[in-house]
Amino acid sequence: MPSETLQGVVLRYANYRERDRMLTLLTPDHGRVDVVSHGCRRPKSQLLTGSEMFVHGEFVVFQNRDRFTLTACAPTDTFYPLRLDSYRLTCATYLLNLAQAAAQPEQPAQGLYTLLLKGLYRLAYGTDDAPLAVTNAFLLLFAAEIGYRPRLNHCARCGKSLPTDRGAQLDIAAGGLCCDDCAEKPYFSLTAAQTAWMRQTLLNELSGSLGEADAPLFEALRAYVESRLDACIKCSQLLP
Ligand SMILES: [Zn+2]
Repeated sequence: MPSETLQGVVLRYANYRERDRMLTLLTPDHGRVDVVSHGCRRPKSQLLTGSEMFVHGEFVVFQNRDRFTLTACAPTDTFYPLRLDSYRLTCATYLLNLAQAAAQPEQPAQGLYTLLLKGLYRLAYGTDDAPLAVTNAFLLLFAAEIGYRPRLNHCARCGKSLPTDRGAQLDIAAGGLCCDDCAEKPYFSLTAAQTAWMRQTLLNELSGSLGEADAPLFEALRAYVESRLDACIKCSQLLP
């Protein structure tokens, strides 16, 4: 690029100087891209609507060496309803933070990008979904997307087949469900219904009903995912 149009989602911003912002975008083709939005905090700036968190759209950027400057933007969706519900907003912010922790500059991230958009749509517009159920589904699919799909059908330590009518232990270090004989701490005891939900969600991705908020499952999935990222994400402390 010197000048290129990027599809992207704003993961975060940091204000600097009087009127500028540094945006972090997630893009399908270039992964994480940091872009300077000059003067976007001036009243009437054409860049302001595109320089907010969650905005999805087209961003025209100019490249000078390793620095990108925003020259125009055309938002497709601002996910506005998230601003009307602080709990949904917290869940959605957590999704952005997870995406930011996983995305790397110049590493294509098509799968992560699609997953993030689907999650944000469900949180903003899926009024029948419990926000925590969407967050749980995102955590599980995110783990799979970044290469840590948990083993669910066989014990992750001894390989024994796990009966589907019984619960199992989500063993954080082993990378999946373990039988009672093998599970090592830290692990989370999950019910048969919870393990069935995980299997179903990995098949359905983010389509179909996601069910009720399940706080214990959130604790288990958060521990699993954040151990893989080697990051403790601050806003997740506000959940469940
Ligand atoms: Zn075992």
